[in-house]
Amino acid sequence: MTTPVSRGETPVPPDRQPRLTVLSGPSGVGKSTVVAHLRRAHPEVWLSVSATTRRPRPGERHGVHYFFVDDEEFDKLVANGELLEWAEFAGNRYGTPRRAVLEKLAAGEPVLLEIDLQGARLVRSSMPEAQLVFLAPPSWEELVRRLTGRGTEAPEVIERRLTVARTELAAESEFDTTLVNTSVEDVAAELLALL
Ligand code: ADP
Ligand code: 5GP
Repeated sequence: MTTPVSRGETPVPPDRQPRLTVLSGPSGVGKSTVVAHLRRAHPEVWLSVSATTRRPRPGERHGVHYFFVDDEEFDKLVANGELLEWAEFAGNRYGTPRRAVLEKLAAGEPVLLEIDLQGARLVRSSMPEAQLVFLAPPSWEELVRRLTGRGTEAPEVIERRLTVARTELAAESEFDTTLVNTSVEDVAAELLALL
């Protein structure tokens, strides 16, 4: 990546460079809940909106929670190099639109991505200065309870996500920081301090 520049094209000094923060963690750990809580108190925190081939859950809005696209549209985003990173997760594809992220960083604003482990690894290799934050559950049993209790996925999808979760939990040491999601309020405050 090129060095971020301010609006006036003056290079931002290294100690003032805006941060790109990646928040990852197993499905159901509470990533969306924590980020939504943080942004209610701090609407200025900018979160990248991903593209996905997954169907919207009740209440999810196009352009707000995700850009919901079909397979053909996703193929085009990939072919045109419009995604900073993308990955297949539990049967659907997800990707980060490149342009909005680079524009925010160039404008000197911090950027938050909420993406899976594969995406976090891709960002680490293309943007080594990115900060990787892992959101961990208080226990395996609590993760199962949360994912099941959310009630948004069929039992076989929950099983698939829990299988992926075991791999994700094993990769915690690859991250710069771990936050344990016991209290949404506490974790949101800790995340805000890291941005
Ligand atoms: P993710 O975005 O990581 O897949 P969600 O934010 O959808 O997870 O949270 C999954 C479920 O867990 C939701 O029902 C949410 O209300 C609940 N949840 C999130 N954080 C906590 C917490 N700290 N304590 C108890 N329940 C939580
Ligand atoms: P969900 O279907 O529960 O919204 O998301 C499933 C997983 O995909 C979560 O781990 C979420 O963080 C991840 N995800 C969401 N957007 C992206 C993205 O743009 N890129 C990648 N790699 N993962 C994403």
